[in-house]
Amino acid sequence: MTIKSAFAHSFKITFATDNKLKLTAVIKNKINLSFIVLQLFALPLISQTDYWQQKADYKIDVDLNHTNHQYKGKVSIVYYNNSPDQLDAMYFHLYFNAFQPGSAMDIRSRTITDPDARVGDRISNLKKDEYGFLTIKSLKIDGKSQTFFENETILEIKLGKAITAGAKVSIELEFEGQVPIQIRRSGRNNTEGIDYSMSQWYPKMCEYDYMGWHANPYVGREFYGVWGDFEVNITLDKKYIVGATGVIQNPLEVGNGYAAEGAKVKQPSGDKLLWKFKATNVHDFVWAADPDYIHDQAQVAGGPTIHFFYQKNKDYSNTWKDAQALIVKGFEYLSKNFGSYPYAQYSVIQGGDGGMEYPMATLITGNRKLPSLVGVTIHEGAHSWYQGVLATNESLYPWMDEGFTSFATDETMSQLFKSGMSSYHQNAYNGYFDIVREGKEESLDTHADHYLTNYAYGTASYNKGEVYLAQLEYIMGPTNFRAGLLAYFNTWKFKHPTALDFIRVMEKQSGLELDWYHEYFGQTTKTIDYGIAQISGSASSTKVALVRKGLMPMPIDLEVKYKDGTYETFLIPLDIMRGEKPADGYNGKWTVLEDWKWVSPSYQLNISKPASEIESITLDPSELMADIDRKNNLISPDMSLNFFWSAE
Ligand SMILES: [Zn+2]
Repeated sequence: MTIKSAFAHSFKITFATDNKLKLTAVIKNKINLSFIVLQLFALPLISQTDYWQQKADYKIDVDLNHTNHQYKGKVSIVYYNNSPDQLDAMYFHLYFNAFQPGSAMDIRSRTITDPDARVGDRISNLKKDEYGFLTIKSLKIDGKSQTFFENETILEIKLGKAITAGAKVSIELEFEGQVPIQIRRSGRNNTEGIDYSMSQWYPKMCEYDYMGWHANPYVGREFYGVWGDFEVNITLDKKYIVGATGVIQNPLEVGNGYAAEGAKVKQPSGDKLLWKFKATNVHDFVWAADPDYIHDQAQVAGGPTIHFFYQKNKDYSNTWKDAQALIVKGFEYLSKNFGSYPYAQYSVIQGGDGGMEYPMATLITGNRKLPSLVGVTIHEGAHSWYQGVLATNESLYPWMDEGFTSFATDETMSQLFKSGMSSYHQNAYNGYFDIVREGKEESLDTHADHYLTNYAYGTASYNKGEVYLAQLEYIMGPTNFRAGLLAYFNTWKFKHPTALDFIRVMEKQSGLELDWYHEYFGQTTKTIDYGIAQISGSASSTKVALVRKGLMPMPIDLEVKYKDGTYETFLIPLDIMRGEKPADGYNGKWTVLEDWKWVSPSYQLNISKPASEIESITLDPSELMADIDRKNNLISPDMSLNFFWSAE
C-alpha cells in the first residue's frame, strides 16, 4: 500500500506519514555535494561504555489566555548532574522564538534550495501579534538568581556556581510566551481549525551527554531531550478539551471523556479549568486544546489505553471511529515485534501540520481516508519505540529514529492491510536508489541541521535508514536480526543509544563483526554493486565468475534454479565478518562457500552440474541487498544472445 502525498515524488515514504516532511517540489538544481562539508560533519563512531545520563524532573504550571494567545508559567526542575564533569554553563531551548522574522529558522527556510512548503517565507511575514515568543522573566538555581542571555532559540546561562559531578540542583524559572500562528509543528489555529497545538512550548533543558552540550538552534529539525518525570498543570478557559503527554490526574474535575464511565464529574466553578497531567520517564511534553474535540478511548490488550481526540466533521469523524480497532491491532503488533510499549497511555491528537511524534502522544492532521489515518497514526505510534523510548539524539542520528520507525511502520501496515509481504520495504529502497542516481546523496552521519537539502535529509533519514535495517536482516539472517531488534530495545530503552551502540547489540546477537557495515553504509555514500560476469563449464560442472563493481563489500547469497524445478542456494561470506548468518533463510538449505576477501573485486565458484541443466542464476534473490544495479544480478545460460555466456 502506498499513499501518495505531496512529496512522494521526492522521498519515497511508503505511507507518506510524516507530513512534517511535506515539501514543495524539490528544486532539481544540480547540487555539488561538497566532500569537505560532508567530512566536517561526519561523526566519530563511538560506543558508550561507562554509560551515564542526566536527569531532569519538571513541574510546570502554565496559564493560557486564549484572547491574546499568550501564556505565563513557572517551571521547577530538579536537575541531576550524573555526568563525571563539572558544569559551568547550562542551556535551554526556547523554540517559539524561531517564529520571528530574521530567526535562524526563517533564514534557513528562505535560503535552502528546497524549502518546506509549510515554512517557506511565512516567518518573515509574521506580524507582532502572530509571532511566537518564549521569554524568561526570572531564573534561580538553588535559590540564587543567575545571569542569562536569550540567544534566540537558546537560553545561555553562565552559572554563578559550577555544578559539580554527581550534584543535584533545583532550578526555578518564570516564563512568558505567545503561541505563534501555526507554521511548523506547533501553533494556533491550524489548517483544520484546531485552536492550540502546543509542542516545543516551554523552556526545555538541552541535553548534556558524553559529547557535551547539545544546544542546537531550532531551524526545523527534530529533537533531543533529558530523561525525567513531568508534572504539568495547565489552566485555560473551560470551553477547551485538552489532550496531552502523560496521564490525567484529576479526571473527576475535568470530565470530557477522562472520567470512568458512570463516574460523577464535578467541574470546579469559575471560567477556567485546571488540567493536571503526569508522565514518568519521558523527555518531552506536548499538549493540544480545542473546544470541539470528541474524546474516545480504546484498550490495547496488555498494553496502553489509546486516547483519540478529533473534531466532529462529516468528512472524517467516522473514519476516526473506524481507525481505532486497526490502531489497537497495530500497537499489539508493534509491542510483540519491536519491544513492549512501557507506558499506560498513548494519545492520538488531531492538531499540528501533518504528523509529529512526542512521548506518549502524537499531533496529526485529521482529514484523511482510512489507510492514511491509520498509516500516519501507526508511524507516529511506532516512534514511541524509537523516538519515545530509545530516544536517540535526532540531530546526530535522525535515521535511527525515522528510518527504524519507517521500517516498523511498513511491516505493521502490511499486517493490518494484508499487502504484499515480499516487498514492504521496496519503496524505501527505491527512494534510496533514486537519490544515488541523481548524485545528491549525503551520508547518514551528517548532522540533521547541516544537510544541503531537505531532499537529502529526508531520503537519508527515512529511506536509507529503513534500508539500513532491512539490509541488516539480509546480512545477519532473520532469526538473529529479529532477536537483535528486541535486544536493542531492551538494552537501550530509556537511554540514548548511538549508531555503534546499536551495532554492538547486533554483533553480540549474531556473533558477527558488523562495524564495517556502519562504516560503509552509515558513514559514507559508497554504494553496492555486484554482478555475474561470466559462466563457463564442462559436461559435468559450471564455473560462475562474480564481480564486485561497487565500493562497498557485502556477503553474497546466490540462487541457482535447475531445469528440473529444484533450487540450490550458495552463501559467500565476507571475510571481515568472521563468520556468516545461520541457515535460517531459503528453507534452511544452502552451501557455505569460501570467504570473499573484501579487497578482491572478483570471485569464482563451481557448481557441480553442467550449464545445460541450469535454468538461471540469481545473485541476491531476496533483493534485500541495496544493489544499485540489479540488471547484472540474473543470468540464464539458455539466453543465446546473452553476451556473458561462453561455453568451453
Ligand atoms: Zn517519523
